[in-house]
Amino acid sequence: MPTIQATASLQLDWIIVGGGLSGLATAYVLRKAGHRVRVLEKLQKLDVPAAGLRVPPNLSKIFKDWIAVMKETGGDFLMMHHEDVHKMLYRLAVEAGVTVELGVEVVAVEAGQSDESPEPRVVLASGQVYTADLVVGADGPTSIVRQTAFDIDDTAEPVGVTVLGGIIPADAMLKDPDWSSFVLADEWPIFMGPRRSLCCHPVRAKKEFSVQLFWPNDEAGPDNVGPESWYEVIPTTSIDFTPYAPSIQRLLAMVPFLTRTRFMKRAEELENWSDDSGRIVLIGEAAHPWFPGGSHISSMVVEDAVVFGTLFSHLSDHSQIGSFLSAYQELREARTKVVKQEDITNAQLVMLPYGPDRDARNANMAPLSRTDDWDEGILKRELDVFAEIFCYEAEDAAEEWWVDWGRFSQRAKGQQQQSYQDDHAADAGTHQQMGFMYGAVTSVTGHHSDDEES
Ligand SMILES: Cc1cc2nc3c(=O)[nH]c(=O)nc-3n(C[C@H](O)[C@H](O)[C@H](O)COP(=O)(O)OP(=O)(O)OC[C@H]3O[C@@H](n4cnc5c(N)ncnc54)[C@H](O)[C@@H]3O)c2cc1C
Repeated sequence: MPTIQATASLQLDWIIVGGGLSGLATAYVLRKAGHRVRVLEKLQKLDVPAAGLRVPPNLSKIFKDWIAVMKETGGDFLMMHHEDVHKMLYRLAVEAGVTVELGVEVVAVEAGQSDESPEPRVVLASGQVYTADLVVGADGPTSIVRQTAFDIDDTAEPVGVTVLGGIIPADAMLKDPDWSSFVLADEWPIFMGPRRSLCCHPVRAKKEFSVQLFWPNDEAGPDNVGPESWYEVIPTTSIDFTPYAPSIQRLLAMVPFLTRTRFMKRAEELENWSDDSGRIVLIGEAAHPWFPGGSHISSMVVEDAVVFGTLFSHLSDHSQIGSFLSAYQELREARTKVVKQEDITNAQLVMLPYGPDRDARNANMAPLSRTDDWDEGILKRELDVFAEIFCYEAEDAAEEWWVDWGRFSQRAKGQQQQSYQDDHAADAGTHQQMGFMYGAVTSVTGHHSDDEES
């Protein structure tokens, strides 16, 4: 089913803060629904160092609808390079007519000051101020929109895990007898160690190999702790990998440089994803921070965008905005919570410390190396859960809400409106007969008309 089938009859001006995956995907779907969209992204360019990104079937099937070249992928579990996905969404958004400004840092977002000027203000580091009908904070886990417009301090606490990512050229791996077969295989090898794991996969048609290492800080050493960001790039030689097996050390030595980030947790879940003014809303990791290198975050943020864009493709009246924002949170909050917990459980499963849980996991995995079936156990459960996650259809979820609730309340409102207009017309007739003159009239759709006189 092609994403975003309707064009909104009320088309608004939007500013999206952050041009990461969620910002660009949201911009694209809103634009497809007819809205006018500007994205403000602080990065000067998109080709910054990054590593692999897992694109599960619930995301690859969305990409299949959006991008011709992805059609052949069906709903496969893809292993892609983050930069490729980022640039693909950028191109898609720009070609659809979104304005994307790079190198623009937002320092604050403020709600509109009054009912007469409800438009939020977006303050740039340069001092310039933009306004729009609605502002979307898609600025990631450390969101400045969350901090300024929602007045919520960032309470991030380190979990104690450093995440290192890197890309190895296939040529280098092909020269190593232990590693050459991995770069050519259609597999996703995960090396499980005590309190650490190494997730790998080939990317870019097997010309490169992505590695992502989860490493406890206390063992990685006090110097191996970076900020929670994707912008820190360090030389591979600055890290001491001697606690690892010799073959893993050899693999890691082939990575030219590493990105270093860390796993943080936040004490409070965000209660409301939109602010009190009902004009500023959070999406992607700004609404539900994840953990770096999770398997499901890319699909969750694009699903957010599809649900959001589908709802706003039905916009015909300002009075719907509040219910659309509530519906978006209602549809996405529960799902992202469940999927995040699942992602964390899986990440923990592959880095269990020595002990009974680890032994149980290994015993459960043993049947995988045999050809007979393995109906029970942890991995079977995980795969069943995965199947449920992958079958979700973001657009259907939003359309279902629209058919069950949104359209219904709109119709009810329409009837109210009709009876109001009938009364109003009757009143106007009476008043005209009595020779009264009307001044400014506020229609029931919320539009002000100063020149309507009767
Ligand atoms: C540069 C980069 C590289 C990444 N590499 C990988 C990777 O290799 N593997 C992986 O699994 N995940 C990677 N991620 C994370 C992954 O993109 C996210 O986990 C996920 O896609 C959620 O996306 P998001 O758009 O919600 O948040 P993010 O991806 O964090 O995007 C937020 C965007 O907002 C921008 N931004 C933040 N603050 C401001 C501001 N004040 N003004 C303007 N713009 C602002 C950021 O520059 C960023 O582009 C990377 C993210 C980034 C930003």
